[in-house]
Amino acid sequence: AKGAAPNALLQPNFKFEDLGIGGLDTEFSQIFRRAFASRIFPPSIVEKLGIQHVKGILLYGPPGTGKTLMARQIGKMLNAREPQIVNGPEILNKYVGQSEENIRKLFAAAEQEYKQRGEESSLHIIIFDELDAICKQRGSKNDGTGVGDSIVNQLLSKMDGVEQLNNILIIGMTNRLDMIDEALLRPGRLEIHMEINLPDENGRLQILNVHTARMRQHDLLEHDVDLKELASLTKNFSGAEIAGLIKSASSFSFNRHIKIGATAAVNPDYDKMKVARDDFLLALDEVHPSFGVSETELK
Ligand code: ATP
Repeated sequence: AKGAAPNALLQPNFKFEDLGIGGLDTEFSQIFRRAFASRIFPPSIVEKLGIQHVKGILLYGPPGTGKTLMARQIGKMLNAREPQIVNGPEILNKYVGQSEENIRKLFAAAEQEYKQRGEESSLHIIIFDELDAICKQRGSKNDGTGVGDSIVNQLLSKMDGVEQLNNILIIGMTNRLDMIDEALLRPGRLEIHMEINLPDENGRLQILNVHTARMRQHDLLEHDVDLKELASLTKNFSGAEIAGLIKSASSFSFNRHIKIGATAAVNPDYDKMKVARDDFLLALDEVHPSFGVSETELK
């Protein structure tokens, strides 16, 4: 029926908060609208526009900022298959000689389903982590193997072939935009480019919220912990580093509460086991941001 189809791809009752992503709501919704609107809108509108669905996205930016998390969650909020995740260096190191075959295999399931079910096919997402790794050798004169070349060429030919397949989305990720082969970034390939940057203070607060949600739910966060204060003390931290900070603070809390006696028996002191502000201060001495900060700034 007309009007029934538009939200077919969207998971019902979807909420951004449920994705466990802190501070990237703007990026997420922008990608979502730009890359998926054509799949969600009535086909008649898409026909009038005369466009094809977006086939690929590139997420780039510093490490640990949630690119992989976001790519996975994109799949979750659509009725997509569990994404296939491949890692650039893995393809290079492990599968030399077989790399092209492995790229071919990645697309096989989607191709087969499309043949059988056409537009009824579910969406297949292929995530390429550290995409730069397979680009490094392409065109470099000193490299005799030509391995990078053939992998990128294979990928390109697959992506161009995908034009007839509406059921594939490729998400590439990299910390090194400058290393990505230009050919991969052209229209019809990884055509939407989104920078995922270090979180600002508000983003850090949201990430702190996400990663302490469980503790707070079980009342294991001491009342002297002020997440706003921690957000202000974690300038230049990535999401992964904030997660690391919370883990470190928890370990300092364990250190205070759990006594290991002479017999090495663990005497748990569960009742008092809470993570306190002091634990976070110790953790802040241990976990430092690695990106966007100079050595002198660290002191
Ligand atoms: P890399 O470039 O190193 O692959 P990445 O940008 O893909 O990094 P992720 O693997 O998504 O980073 O992040 C690592 C972990 O850090 C996540 O599993 C999550 O626990 C935490 N994290 C990072 N960013 C966020 C965020 N914005 N919100 C919540 N958690 C985050």
